[in-house]
Amino acid sequence: MDQRALFIIFGGTGDLAYRKLYPSLFRLYEKGYLKENFAVIGTARRPWSDDHFHEVVLNAIADDGRDVERTNTEMARKFASHFYYQSHNVDDAEHYVNLKNLADKLDAKYELNGNRVYYLAMAPRFFGTISSHLKDQNLLTENGFNRLIIEKPFGRDYKTAKELNDSVSGSFAEDQIFRIDHYLGKEPIQSIAALRFGNQIISSLWNKEHIDNIQVTLAESLGVEERAGYYETAGALRDMVQNHIMQIVSLLTIEKPDVYDASHLRDKKVEALNNIQLYSVDEAKKNFVRGQYGEDANQTQASYRDEEGTDEHSQIDTFVAGKLISHNPTLEGVPVYVRTGKRLAKKTTQINVVFKNLDTDIFHNVEDSDAIGLQDNVLTIYIEPEMGYTLKLNTKYGNQGYNINPVHLRYRKTPEEKAKIPDAYERLIHDALRGDKTNFAHWHEVSRAWKLVDVIREAWDSEDANFPNYESGSMGPKAADELLTNDGRNWVFNPLK
Ligand code: NAD
Repeated sequence: MDQRALFIIFGGTGDLAYRKLYPSLFRLYEKGYLKENFAVIGTARRPWSDDHFHEVVLNAIADDGRDVERTNTEMARKFASHFYYQSHNVDDAEHYVNLKNLADKLDAKYELNGNRVYYLAMAPRFFGTISSHLKDQNLLTENGFNRLIIEKPFGRDYKTAKELNDSVSGSFAEDQIFRIDHYLGKEPIQSIAALRFGNQIISSLWNKEHIDNIQVTLAESLGVEERAGYYETAGALRDMVQNHIMQIVSLLTIEKPDVYDASHLRDKKVEALNNIQLYSVDEAKKNFVRGQYGEDANQTQASYRDEEGTDEHSQIDTFVAGKLISHNPTLEGVPVYVRTGKRLAKKTTQINVVFKNLDTDIFHNVEDSDAIGLQDNVLTIYIEPEMGYTLKLNTKYGNQGYNINPVHLRYRKTPEEKAKIPDAYERLIHDALRGDKTNFAHWHEVSRAWKLVDVIREAWDSEDANFPNYESGSMGPKAADELLTNDGRNWVFNPLK
């Protein structure tokens, strides 16, 4: 497939470009996915020269790999020579004329066939302005492809997300818009479909008859760090649940697509999200809990309200837990418990599928004080930092009696295997270059996810929370545990030993 293209990166001097985009483009170049027929225009307000831009790009590669030597190679210098800088205020229509001239020049020089990828590594308030100028000033080509990559946050509720979407969809059709949710670029998330639909033993059990509940945990051990300004406007519900968690839930609850490709998968994901129960405000209050971290037990870590840049009376949620209910036919009524938070006991992203224990316990009358008894089978999918799976099975404990004890079948990716896995941005940029939308969020997914989340926000905004309500270093507020114990269940938190 022809992978030649001109990348125009808006926000070329920013953090995202430096930490993610330039290193990812270099890795694609190292691996031969980008050959000589590509060029990159970085644009931002600062008046950089091309030479300075090359230096920045080389530094970004060095910082990424923690390997300065990588920048001293002929390959790295050749790569950087494809980068051009255009100082630019995105609000000013005049600048798009210069941008077009440079783009056309590079198109001819590198024989790019009019293929263009516009990467908006800038605040969403600029998306509409940039998209309409790109169209009005004729940067969009007739002969090649024109693809727009945009980043979160995609609105702060359904209404603003729709306005944002309307602002870009006047210039770009849905099939040209690539909405990044970097969780969809992660290997173990992409692997969910393979696990569910590539294994008869799993697919035959992945249904309401056999699954008791599913649990999704995205736990961070860090606090808000230097993102307090942004976080004060967002909170965990908007920052993590609306996008990453809803995307994961959709992949866990989709019906089987006829074929694994972008359009079939998208249809099934939209269906799965549409079939997540939309709560009333009262139901949302009952089924979702919020939290905000306080100090840790030893008072060595500051509470959220004492972090620099936060409001001392902040009502922002740094923790969310809730119960979603799937009404997709296969999983009708199965609860999906989700939780995410900052300053939790351990950094881990994991999915636990808890199976029903249907069998009669014929072992219960074996008398032995060591006996644990039959446990639920649990399939754990480790997303990060570990990658792998465990499956908890009941087996006989090695002794003279007949005690039942669980063991975990375990698969864990080795550091060598992990090192070979492309980074999420590297993969997603490559997908966008190939025009593969499998791992991007469709507007229908984004909009439904907002509707599901807006009700929860409405429920919470109607009354003040009593924050802080969990200790740093814990697993969140008591109410999050009660959410499950009230249903006769518990959170599974499975370290990969
Ligand atoms: P940043 O503040 O570091 O960079 C913003 C860029 O926009 C800079 O290059 C700046 O010069 C440019 N800019 C601002 N106003 C401009 C104007 N009027 N004209 C031209 N250029 C202008 O921000 P960032 O961290 O790189 O994030 C960019 C976007 O990506 C944000 O919306 C952010 O929420 C999102 N995002 C960032 C990350 C990340 O890891 N940094 C991750 C996910 C999403």
